[in-house]
Amino acid sequence: MHYRRKEHPPPPAQREQHPTHHITLSERGPFLAPRCSCGWSGPARRSRPLARDEAAAHVAAESEAA
Ligand SMILES: [Zn+2]
Repeated sequence: MHYRRKEHPPPPAQREQHPTHHITLSERGPFLAPRCSCGWSGPARRSRPLARDEAAAHVAAESEAA
């Protein structure tokens, strides 16, 4: 007799090492506005490195908040 007990499924991984934050830089004239796939958007900057840096800071902050 095979009596199968339905046990609890394994818990999903709570540590997300790869959060779903995909950054894209949208150009608006001379400005660059960082946008994230999670819905976040940063202020438009004239400097691409600065826009990227702020986007990276957002991802880091979201990762820590989890
Ligand atoms: Zn995000």
